[in-house]
Amino acid sequence: MSFDPQHTAPPLPDTPTAIPKARLLIVDDQPINIQTLHRIFQGDHEVFMATSGEQALQFCRSQRLPDMILLDIVMPGMDGLEVCRRLKAEPLTADIPVIFITSLSSPQEETTALEAGGVDFISKPVNPAVVRARVRTHLTLKAQSDRLRALAFIDGLTGIANRRRFDEALDVEWRSAIRCSEPLALLLIDIDQFKRYNDHYGHPAGDACLQAVAATIARHAARPHDLAARYGGEEFACLLGGSTLAGAQAKAEAIRHAVEELQLEHATSAVAPHVTVSLGVAVCLPAQGDEAQQLLAGADAALYQAKADGRNRQASAPAGMRYLAWLEQRG
Ligand code: GH3
Ligand code: MG
Ligand code: MG
Repeated sequence: MSFDPQHTAPPLPDTPTAIPKARLLIVDDQPINIQTLHRIFQGDHEVFMATSGEQALQFCRSQRLPDMILLDIVMPGMDGLEVCRRLKAEPLTADIPVIFITSLSSPQEETTALEAGGVDFISKPVNPAVVRARVRTHLTLKAQSDRLRALAFIDGLTGIANRRRFDEALDVEWRSAIRCSEPLALLLIDIDQFKRYNDHYGHPAGDACLQAVAATIARHAARPHDLAARYGGEEFACLLGGSTLAGAQAKAEAIRHAVEELQLEHATSAVAPHVTVSLGVAVCLPAQGDEAQQLLAGADAALYQAKADGRNRQASAPAGMRYLAWLEQRG
């Protein structure tokens, strides 16, 4: 997926002519056909070419993904239908729209092509105006669905990742940690006495406070395997892929300190005259068969401890034997 949940998605173009330059991959075993399509699109888009199915799949594995593929069906070796089926079977490439461009044109062949996962079917010889219009339509649809997908993963109030996105990221990072034998750390962050804040300053002020705290946390989760998310209500989660316990604790202190530095007045807090947070830290070196739920449970218990210890502080879940052995071996 090519969106960044920490930032809002780009606005939709309001006119059809505002479609940004797309990456088109043209796949055809006949150079003359490629040249024709290349000529049609070279002015508007970035055009890439492959002369076989294998080459097309290789392109998708090794380059930045294309926004659309114009795919010939009859080719020696792997035919276009098979290429399309394979693209659709792979989560990374499943969303790339495929338009078949082919000399086959019976209803049966057209049906087979659409069933293989193509979004459209254009017969050769192509009419430049028609093929241009159809590509434009499908690029617009793709941009719209990308944007909707991105919105579905963003918390409406704070603009950072939502719980759904967090659950997905936890799953991905957990599996990657197992594969790479790397630790995974998690912070659970909860605003102290936030009910009193709402009661005293009102719900809209409470919302603004959540936004400020969310932005502060997100600023501290800037590495590629970091993710800051709104976990629910006034609770946030910060996933730190590859981080040690010490690294996560340092991050927790940086966030705790940065929230204090916001100096958001909180007159009814028994902790401080300003908004503060408590943090639960957990780290894990997961192995096959472990559940990501362990990490959440550890961070949750640690957060509860931080609250019990007086708030505006962090507490850590005890690290497991496997993590400690890994740490020692690492030196
Ligand atoms: P503690 O220090 O133990 O965390 O106490 P607390 O008051 O922060 O915790 P509690 O769970 O009792 O209260 C959480 C409050 O957060 C209650 C709820 O109204 C508020 N809250 C949750 N979601 C939102 C929101 O979206 N906007 C606003 N303004 N308030 C919210
Ligand atoms: Mg709270
Ligand atoms: Mg809470």
